[in-house]
Amino acid sequence: MQPRHLLPIGFLLVAAACGSSAPETLADMPNLETTRVLADITRLSSDEFQGRAPGSEGERLSVQYLTDEFTAAGLEPGNPDGSWVQKVPLVGMRPMVTAPFTITQGGKARQMKVLGEIVPFTRRVSETVTLNKSDVVFVGYGIQAPEFQWDDYKGVDVKGKTILMLVNDPPVPGSGLGGLDPATFGGKAMTYYGRWVYKFEKAAEMGAAGVLVIHETGPAGYPFAVAQVMGGERFNLSTPDKNMGKSAIEGWISLEATTDLFTGAGLNFDELKAKAATRDFTPVPLKATASVTLSQTIRTLDSQNVVATITGSDAALKDEYVVYSAHWDHLGIGAPGPDGDTIYNGAMDNASGTATLLELARAFKSLPTAPKRTVVFLAVTAEEQGLLGSEYYARFPLYPLNRTLANVNVDGMNMWGRTSDVTVIGMGASDLDDYLTAAAKEQNRIPMPDPESEKGFYYRSDHFNFAKVGVPALYIDDGTTFIDKPAGYGKQKRDDFTRLDYHKPSDQVKPDWDLSGLAEDGKLLFAVGYRVAMAPTYPEWKPGNEFKAIRDRALNR
Ligand SMILES: [Zn+2]
Repeated sequence: MQPRHLLPIGFLLVAAACGSSAPETLADMPNLETTRVLADITRLSSDEFQGRAPGSEGERLSVQYLTDEFTAAGLEPGNPDGSWVQKVPLVGMRPMVTAPFTITQGGKARQMKVLGEIVPFTRRVSETVTLNKSDVVFVGYGIQAPEFQWDDYKGVDVKGKTILMLVNDPPVPGSGLGGLDPATFGGKAMTYYGRWVYKFEKAAEMGAAGVLVIHETGPAGYPFAVAQVMGGERFNLSTPDKNMGKSAIEGWISLEATTDLFTGAGLNFDELKAKAATRDFTPVPLKATASVTLSQTIRTLDSQNVVATITGSDAALKDEYVVYSAHWDHLGIGAPGPDGDTIYNGAMDNASGTATLLELARAFKSLPTAPKRTVVFLAVTAEEQGLLGSEYYARFPLYPLNRTLANVNVDGMNMWGRTSDVTVIGMGASDLDDYLTAAAKEQNRIPMPDPESEKGFYYRSDHFNFAKVGVPALYIDDGTTFIDKPAGYGKQKRDDFTRLDYHKPSDQVKPDWDLSGLAEDGKLLFAVGYRVAMAPTYPEWKPGNEFKAIRDRALNR
């Protein structure tokens, strides 16, 4: 592997060898046109599109809009069957609590406030699911990680029980950033073990009937109100086993309700939480039982990934691929915001990324010669439902994954102006970061690691499904140092967005948006994908990365 400072020279040699029309520097590459991007965002996030929920009229309009725009830009239908879409079979379930969520402790039965204290749901495709006097056990962080000699389940059989667990990785003290041990669960950065997806998977594997993640605003990265939105229709990939291998009840429980539960058992939550960050932790029964019945209406539907391609110009390399992705879906219509608005417009999340994907496609199409390799533009569905559209693509890829060099994912763009830095989520994961660094340098910008790496963003958007099957994946985020703005401006904007607009009806186009930063970030993404599509070699995961072994197997080495 080449050291990063040599990469640009490599690019120059490749570019020189293939003729003068291929752009070499960022200055030679097409710019993203922000008026078009803003027009696309405005349209996709308009009330007419109803928040773009899978299976809704909003889906029909979104898919039509994307297809029209890809067609107008001169791209080819990206499904080898000649169509613009990949069908994604989903099952949509709308759970209702038909017997109250009751926790009985010390002979007293307490009915939990659904959505206020507890958000129960199920992924089982079944008209009713039940917990019946299921013993409640606290299992710390709910992690089994042999490589860290860690087992939160030791000594207890949780089969049929309802388990409560903390969100995030255990904060094991050490000499790294934030006073944490960088060698255990990534230190300050979140690993996959910290994600609720992992925790639910593990709980199911252990046979738990119920699994509740304790909601704490800090570590989860979003407030309880966001978890509550999950109370509407929920989607899953439609699988042959109808998800009967999952725990019957999954969900969130508020910190307040959890603390009460510990107190009721004569236990101290804070003490046991601290204990859970050590290898000595053993599961603690909370001397309580949980009961609930959910009944749900079930419908099956085909949602759609929209896919467009630009065929590679090199006869030998056109059967190799670079995949750009962005999720077109958002949350649809739901509980009203403070002003009574019920449409979750999702302007930033992720009309901004979808519009950027369209503009990247137009930029690629404007090149005098297409890149050597084929470039795929994949607008996926049901990201908000648990990365389902991209999971489906990764399980049933339209193009071979072992000939897919990279995924570049776009989820939420910078709307607040130019920055002197750019955030790389999971920085150091693969050679794609070196491509990004080289391109950023040409913009006189500095790539920086994720300042909120504890929130596990690398596991929270669609690129993760590519990483899971071994394809090196790049996911960048807004820089934090805004040009000509006071210090702290970026953090303020970001915190305001998370608090006021994230997954709320108010995520709409704002009058103070400035897309100049989006244009620069988008150009970096263009440069990375373009150069990978032209490069003599495949990008690799860095040694020690958790996905490297999967890639090596996929490439038969
Ligand atoms: Zn979202």
